[in-house]
Amino acid sequence: MVYGNLIDGEWRDGDPFANINPSNLDDVVGEYARASLDDTRDAIAAASRAFLGWSLTTPQTRAGYLEKIAAGIEARCGALADLLAREEGKTLREATGEVIRAAQLFRFYAGEVLRTPGERLDSAREGVEIQVTREPVGVVGLITPWNFPIAIPAWKIAPALAFGNTVVFKPAELVPGCAWELARLIHDAGIPAGVFNLVMGRGSVVGAEITSNPQVNAISFTGSTTTGSGILTTASARLAKVQMEMGGKNPLVILNDADLPRAVQAALDGAFYSTGQRCTASSRLIVEAGIHDRFVGALTEALASQVVGDARNAETTIGPVVDERQLAQDLRYIDLGKSEGAHLAFGGEVLSRPTRGHYLSPALFTEANNQMRVCREEIFGPVATVIRAANYEEALHLANDTEFGLSAGICTSSLARSMHFRRNVQAGMVMVNLPTAGVDYTAPFGGRKGSSYGSREQGRYAVEFYTTVKTAYVVG
Ligand code: NAD
Repeated sequence: MVYGNLIDGEWRDGDPFANINPSNLDDVVGEYARASLDDTRDAIAAASRAFLGWSLTTPQTRAGYLEKIAAGIEARCGALADLLAREEGKTLREATGEVIRAAQLFRFYAGEVLRTPGERLDSAREGVEIQVTREPVGVVGLITPWNFPIAIPAWKIAPALAFGNTVVFKPAELVPGCAWELARLIHDAGIPAGVFNLVMGRGSVVGAEITSNPQVNAISFTGSTTTGSGILTTASARLAKVQMEMGGKNPLVILNDADLPRAVQAALDGAFYSTGQRCTASSRLIVEAGIHDRFVGALTEALASQVVGDARNAETTIGPVVDERQLAQDLRYIDLGKSEGAHLAFGGEVLSRPTRGHYLSPALFTEANNQMRVCREEIFGPVATVIRAANYEEALHLANDTEFGLSAGICTSSLARSMHFRRNVQAGMVMVNLPTAGVDYTAPFGGRKGSSYGSREQGRYAVEFYTTVKTAYVVG
């Protein structure tokens, strides 16, 4: 069976492409229809036709659909988590958490749309009343990466639909399975034809059409900074509303007074879980001199006890790298780190396992400095660098010395230092005694500098992107 695209309420065939299990390259997960340019145009036209009707439904009606979708996700939680682990290589524990998160997001926005009232303002003019209301933006194009194939689509689709927009959703090509299952649940919830459309296909064809088509009023993109800046140029030239979440090179600062086991856990989780394939990964560990050797020793020990293996084995703590291209990139950066003079203190080796997969032992570089490319460029794999800092002031300077600004963390027992860091670090999210990764869906998500553009995602902040404000002056 070839899983089709969802266009105007119908499943449509296309040229098949397959996704491969990164834990077992002999396992073809499924075959999916590659959307063409015409399919994409049809999906956009369908979303455009459906917009008026959907935008006029009551918030209660839309909330009802979202509740149904959430229930559908919950009912299929086990199967979806298994698919996610099989398709993307995330461990089953992490995959299950991600699926639950998706259901929570649909429930949250079902409630949020009912909690987002308009506003009445007094006018300086006698008898005139000002009413401020929020209206949907129109057709929104949602373009997503492969590393959170259920949660990221959910945190875009849920607020988009809740606030009355229609959707054209383009998932990353590596993860059509999760996208298709999500689309099926949305379809099965009875969403009217054209309100939600799925187009699986190439970024250069499907993504480019969503970006440039004048019927798409807003684009929410998550992915690499390179792709994002290209989309931004095209979309902003035609004055579309744009929201971008892009790369990171997130610092985790460990000060002399940090609780060592806690700091090691934060580094391990932040840098290496999800195989380091997170935009919020703690890829730069900036360690104050007095704790440096103890920290490196303890983290190396913790890395030695990790189990790299098939994502669906219960004992696995670090799954495979997502595909051959990403593995080659990780290995190139490991070679680069060595040639730049950093010391590979642990890992960085391709591992063989009973099944053919992209297994890489977590790599830890020490004696790195912030001028090295391995400390400046996003690697997006299980590779972290340790940079020694003489003191807190230098650590803060190094933390900010990056083109990115997504998440930053500090491990310290000093309240004063943590408060200073919170105020002065140039990042959208700050973690104190926690990994740089791991966020709540009720809180705003996003960064600064090269990491983000436009308004925040998640929590009640999503309303900024998925609605537009109308101010009415009324006299009776
Ligand atoms: P990517 O930029 O290669 O692709 C992202 C999406 O854009 C995919 O769906 C792709 O098909 C599409 N695309 C590619 N070319 C396009 C074009 N010309 N026009 C329109 N769309 C196009 O990213 P990826 O490899 O899938 O994901 C990894 C990247 O995502 C990393 O850089 C990571 O940091 C980033 N990411 C960021 C966040 C965040 O919230 N900041 C979250 C997760 C991942």
